[in-house]
Amino acid sequence: MSETRHNWTKEDILEIYNKPFMELLYEAATIHRLHHDPNTVQVSTLLSIKTGGCPEDCGYCPQAARYHTNIEGNDLMSVQQVKAQALRAKASGSSRVCMGAAWRNVKDGEEFDQVLEMVRTINKLDMEVCCTLGMITENQAQRLAEAGLYAYNHNLDSSEEYYKKVISTRGFEDRLQTIDNVRKTNVTVCSGGIIGMGEKIEDRAGMLVALSTLNPQPESVPINALVAVEGTPLEDQEPISIWDMVRMVATTRIVMPETQVRLSAGRTQMTREGQAMCFFAGANSIFAGDKLLTTPNPDVNEDMKMFELLGLHPQKPFIKKMQPQTVEATDSQYQALGEKPKWSRPEHTIERNVAAKEKAKVVK
Ligand code: SF4
Repeated sequence: MSETRHNWTKEDILEIYNKPFMELLYEAATIHRLHHDPNTVQVSTLLSIKTGGCPEDCGYCPQAARYHTNIEGNDLMSVQQVKAQALRAKASGSSRVCMGAAWRNVKDGEEFDQVLEMVRTINKLDMEVCCTLGMITENQAQRLAEAGLYAYNHNLDSSEEYYKKVISTRGFEDRLQTIDNVRKTNVTVCSGGIIGMGEKIEDRAGMLVALSTLNPQPESVPINALVAVEGTPLEDQEPISIWDMVRMVATTRIVMPETQVRLSAGRTQMTREGQAMCFFAGANSIFAGDKLLTTPNPDVNEDMKMFELLGLHPQKPFIKKMQPQTVEATDSQYQALGEKPKWSRPEHTIERNVAAKEKAKVVK
């Protein structure tokens, strides 16, 4: 079995990424088979539990309040609504529910308590629960862990250098701090990024350096292809080619052999043949459901037809790690601390973000 290395450099990763295509695919597929069952794919359902109205300026995101996009915002869903959706997801083959809230960071209080209750409810359905709620403190990570959270998602998005060209309201170091806070608990880490935002190949390699040199490496790495949404600063980006996507998946598999590599946003732009190449190159997870937070995603039935065609099976829950125990709110060891951490706000100027904000003012 190949060893997991934590000292990858940008040069090492570029050498892998730029290999002749067939050689890259063969190497990635070989490593994939040493560490995973190549016919099993983990299926997650992403639920947007609080949509839109986000104060951040992420250039790719239609949920940022400052841009004018066609998404319909909603307040935090109820625990009952979430439970009903989780049951539906379970019935259609998902082993994990990932709940996303368009927040900059978690604030202690009623809404966070409600999210903790959602985590308890889904864990009791014997499904893996993941949350993506923005930056969190160590105490908040502990409270989520105690409720039964299985994974926390916090993407690095891109290389540290390119991140600054996409987002000005939060810093790359705060992403790493949140991941570190999650690591102090028994919750697994899900962190990846987006390609097709206009970054160079060096930036893709830079992001993989940042992720693969974490020790331990993230248990899950989503690779998203940008879905350019009208009204966002990145609305005019051309879709990336399938060849770039396969190269990125294969390189991720080689440098992070144990991790679950997730095909995330952008699957609607990919053919079945393209997705099959990604699975061959080491992707072993998808998001199911016709929406990925706010962007389109293939229909579950279409995915199940693709699984049948390729002889793939959905992964059962808690195969990689035991189910966490849920501690009820009344028995909790961790109280809300009401901390007000000083997450950074670089606020440098990103011309295209400013232009999209100005355009939104005119449209609104
Ligand atoms: S990506 Fe997350 S933090 Fe950034 S604008 Fe969208 S919802 Fe807010």
